[in-house]
Amino acid sequence: MKTFSMSPGEEKKRLIECPVCGYPESSPRWSGSMGFVTCGRCGLVYQNPQPMLEDLAQRYDDEYFEYERENEENFFSLMLMGLEDIGFPELAGDLPRSFLDVGCATGKLIAHVKELGFSEQGVEICAPSARYGIEKRGVSIFIGTLEEAAFRDESFGVVHCSHLIEHLTDPAAFVDEVRRILVPGGIFLVTTPDIQGMQARLFGEGWRSAIHDHMVLFSRTTLRRLLEDKGFSVEKRRSWGGLAVGTAPAPLKRIADRACKFLNQGDVMILLARKPLSGEG
Ligand SMILES: [Zn+2]
Repeated sequence: MKTFSMSPGEEKKRLIECPVCGYPESSPRWSGSMGFVTCGRCGLVYQNPQPMLEDLAQRYDDEYFEYERENEENFFSLMLMGLEDIGFPELAGDLPRSFLDVGCATGKLIAHVKELGFSEQGVEICAPSARYGIEKRGVSIFIGTLEEAAFRDESFGVVHCSHLIEHLTDPAAFVDEVRRILVPGGIFLVTTPDIQGMQARLFGEGWRSAIHDHMVLFSRTTLRRLLEDKGFSVEKRRSWGGLAVGTAPAPLKRIADRACKFLNQGDVMILLARKPLSGEG
């Protein structure tokens, strides 16, 4: 799931406590109408009030599928770049060869890992996207949420999600579920925009990821804390993306992109977290 955004229309909303630490108090993150707040305890930025879960699911329809299909090559190459940056090709040899992609869209990434010899599994809430992947690529995709899929304990060596976690109303429960279904020593690869990155600092509320489809805007700090609280050890972070297309002349964008990657201050981050080998943590 990417930064696709639709009109919120007449959806109902509800006030919530911090979806990571449960603290009830927060302050507005920006002055405008986007409704993002900063948790008074853990610093998480989240949308408050939030849309209802059933309304959110409705957003991922045929129109969303068209967006995913039109952009699948571009998203796929970005995911491959992220996996390469974080060192996945080198790590892959030591892991059980079972790969789950949550929010797998049309299944292009899992079709790729299947060719690399992994048993592949996708989870996708947007039914038209999932059906397209199943029929066109012959990959295994569960239609629904990760929790609904109810995989057995310790089913996967690798769980990957790209531009998914920021869409969830309960990211903490999601991380719990990922930990449950990973084998001990298995890895969790999470890609999401970084509100501590240069672009977010530069654009504030005009940041391209500050949209109403994003329930949570993680930073490297808040995402690491969530993963560690849930018993993962975070081994690595990489980032990319200097200035967004259209916000600067091409030569300046190229320089910014290189600098942000080199300094690890990019707009989008990928974290590599590992489930400990022992039962502790
Ligand atoms: Zn909090």
